Amino acid sequence: MRLFNTLTRREEEFAPARHGTVRMYTCGLTVYARGHIGNFRTFVCMDVLRRSLKYVAGWDMHHVVNFTDVDDKTIAGAEREQLSLRAYTDRHIDAFFEDAEALGLERVEDMPRATDPENLQAMADVIGALDERGHTYRSDGSIYFKISTFPEYGKLARLDHAGIQVGARVDADSYTKEDARDFVLWKATKPNEPTWDYGVGAGRPGWHIECSAMALRLLGEAPIDIHAGGVDLIFPHHENEIAQSEGATGRQFSRFWVHVEHLLVDDRKMSKSLGNVYSLQDVRDRGHRISALRYLLLSAHYRKQLNFTWTGLEQAEEALRRLTDLLVRLKTVRGGEPHAEIAQRVNEARRAFDTALGSDLNIAAGLAAMFDLVRAINSAIDLKQLGEADAALVAAAFEHFDKVLGILSLRRAEDEQPAVPVPEIEHMMEQRQAARRRRDFAEADRVRQALADRGVLLEDSPQGTRWKRK
Ligand code: AMP
Ligand code: ZN
Repeated sequence: MRLFNTLTRREEEFAPARHGTVRMYTCGLTVYARGHIGNFRTFVCMDVLRRSLKYVAGWDMHHVVNFTDVDDKTIAGAEREQLSLRAYTDRHIDAFFEDAEALGLERVEDMPRATDPENLQAMADVIGALDERGHTYRSDGSIYFKISTFPEYGKLARLDHAGIQVGARVDADSYTKEDARDFVLWKATKPNEPTWDYGVGAGRPGWHIECSAMALRLLGEAPIDIHAGGVDLIFPHHENEIAQSEGATGRQFSRFWVHVEHLLVDDRKMSKSLGNVYSLQDVRDRGHRISALRYLLLSAHYRKQLNFTWTGLEQAEEALRRLTDLLVRLKTVRGGEPHAEIAQRVNEARRAFDTALGSDLNIAAGLAAMFDLVRAINSAIDLKQLGEADAALVAAAFEHFDKVLGILSLRRAEDEQPAVPVPEIEHMMEQRQAARRRRDFAEADRVRQALADRGVLLEDSPQGTRWKRK
């Protein structure tokens, strides 16, 4: 398996350091809002990486994806809505799980929350180790990492050392690129902020220390194998994680660093602060299916920016349909002799797919191998040159592709569930009936169309109205 390593800026051969198990950490969602499809581009791409490591390379995974449930934004959000931090972040965590399931993300081995006591303790322990090794100082009750004590600071982001402001402090959780300053590890208690005391003084963690501590606690001895996130995290977040983790342990933190490029809208980064975000529900409301979104998000190379458009989503839907159409067609093949050239063609496609995924997740090439096979098999069926045994081989190959891509299984799961929850369908059917009774046919039509737009068709008959999936 070859992977591009941001640390070396080169594609390198990857294998886990220990026992055939990949120890991987992905920076998860900051739970102050519902995740948008930009966030989910990163999570979908990392899901495909995870699945490739498992089903193409054959390794076991110990994969950690955290929730950042305490930082400037979550605290401000809880305050605004007059909720406890837990209650506020719980809501967004529930929403994440719902969206993750809708997108077919495999459950990872650990999803820690920063504010769980064992994680806060681990943060305090890392800070204690940094203290002992002379990497910290205190100011106004907060503890800072002194970057001048870590000469390798900047090695991930390749910072120009002239841009490093030795001795200048920042205690906000987000600040601008190219502005390397001593960063806060533990913030002194402030009015209206949650506060904990785990032996480094009362206060709360800075954002960066959360990930270092959770990665080291859950994945065991450094170095871990892979650390991942979106490209916006390279600096300062990941640079600071390296400084903290390597400063505390004296060992390399992560062997590989993998970063996913941004999802853009109209050529600007999709981000909550720019307000140009779409949620999964926005995608559904426009009549699209989340399996098509998953297809779109994974179809571009993860190291290239992807500009989101509704046309692109329609094209993804069409491509996905070509796959499902073939699978339906395969089931119609009965009897017939097996053909050696079909078996060979299937094996070639499997090899090409695995090679593509093993080449720094070259999904475009993997999809090309799949669609070449789709064309070949469609014409073999047209020419009656596909036997039932051949069809089974082809179906098994698509099962394999889909273990990695997770689109066909997701579509199947969607097909088993109406796009609109049944109680909501029933409620809307009653609304439509009521409108018809008062002869408001425009309203009745509107309700019918609203359901149709979401993939549910109503059929009237003398026995009454029934709904079915489009
Ligand atoms: P956040 O909740 O802001 O901490 O982001 C969670 C994850 O989503 C991080 O790995 C970010 O790098 C990633 N992310 C944020 N915006 C985008 C975007 N527009 N495209 C791709 N990934 C993103
Ligand atoms: Zn992180």
